[in-house]
Amino acid sequence: MLDKFLRHIAQTSDTPLGLEVSHAEGPFIFTKDGKRFVDFISGIAVSSLGHRHPKIVEAIHQQVDKHLHVMVYGEFVQQPQVDFAELLTSNLPQKLNQVYFVNSGTEAVEGALKLAKKYTGRSKLVAFKNSYHGDTHGSLSVTGRDVYRDPYLPLLPNVHFLDFNSDEELDVIDEETAAVIMEPIQGEGGIIPARKEWLKKTRKKCDDSGALLIFDEIQSGFGRTGKLFGFEQYQVIPDILCLAKAMAGGMPMGAFVSSREIFQTFKYDPPLNHVTTFGGHPVSAAAAHANLKELLSGDYFNRALQIEKKIKTKLKGEGIIEVRGMGAMLGLQLKSWELTKNVVEACFDKGILLGWTLHSNTLIRLAPPLILEDELLNEVLNTILEAVKEYN
Ligand code: PMP
Repeated sequence: MLDKFLRHIAQTSDTPLGLEVSHAEGPFIFTKDGKRFVDFISGIAVSSLGHRHPKIVEAIHQQVDKHLHVMVYGEFVQQPQVDFAELLTSNLPQKLNQVYFVNSGTEAVEGALKLAKKYTGRSKLVAFKNSYHGDTHGSLSVTGRDVYRDPYLPLLPNVHFLDFNSDEELDVIDEETAAVIMEPIQGEGGIIPARKEWLKKTRKKCDDSGALLIFDEIQSGFGRTGKLFGFEQYQVIPDILCLAKAMAGGMPMGAFVSSREIFQTFKYDPPLNHVTTFGGHPVSAAAAHANLKELLSGDYFNRALQIEKKIKTKLKGEGIIEVRGMGAMLGLQLKSWELTKNVVEACFDKGILLGWTLHSNTLIRLAPPLILEDELLNEVLNTILEAVKEYN
């Protein structure tokens, strides 16, 4: 099977993990050769309620029995979309009251950029170094890492990259700026939270210049930081919010959320100027609704904070520089690339899936599911600590 995988599935690196998945349940992924892995990265911040949460699986089954795709996004009334959008917006600040559904994170970013340009009638975009917003051309244009951009130049013109968390260049945000896009907690950049005061200043700059503020919470959303959305940690509200990943409990879905007023602009000049066939697929929408209901009804946000406390308390010692981040969106900064590589590999051999972030080679991503209980969490942390000790 690995042979066929390498032959027929287009590869993104020379060293795919290549685990042959048999099934996945809760915090575990099981392989065809009978091994069990603790998924300590939740499929990269996706399965926050674990794999195959029963309520999500049930909602999927029910929807599959009713209908699959029936019409392109936005034409027919589809109950799972409406139910989910209503629940989502009722848990967001007043001005984030309409949802445009897409299929992935990068599509959410593409839509948000187009919306901001159309609404403001401006084209200049401000983004941040070290950011990651996705791999399609628009998203890559606002992604702040040259090695990923250079092979695809020219990208969108008039994009200005500022230092994240730095006050110095905020004047670049001016009356020609359509949007400022950022991750309030940079994910692939190495789990770097924005400074509160800086975020407030950036918001003010946008207000003063008429630029829209776009938050990409594709990785930080849906409870990962200990709140439903990361921006709640800052009391700074974006004009457009991009979502995906954990949104539909393991089904593909993305969205950008904004105000009815801003979204008006998609209806005219010309009509149908931003459409998608599969956006808000009914099965994904049903899963997303079940996922959000469950997230809101449980103790999951608290659990994210407990997980943070436990990890930050426990993962200390020689070789460890720090644990950064919020809730269950954490990064373990180690002192060298060799140590990082050895720890990730040693944990993998012991049945624990850890990962890197795209822009850092000395940081281990820690993004466990919020259903993880103490016993398993302790087990994982002990294994990580032992590996750090062994290879430091
Ligand atoms: N934005 C952020 C912050 C992300 O972490 C990601 C995915 N890592 C994306 C956008 C792109 O999402 P997708 O892979 O679903 O296109």
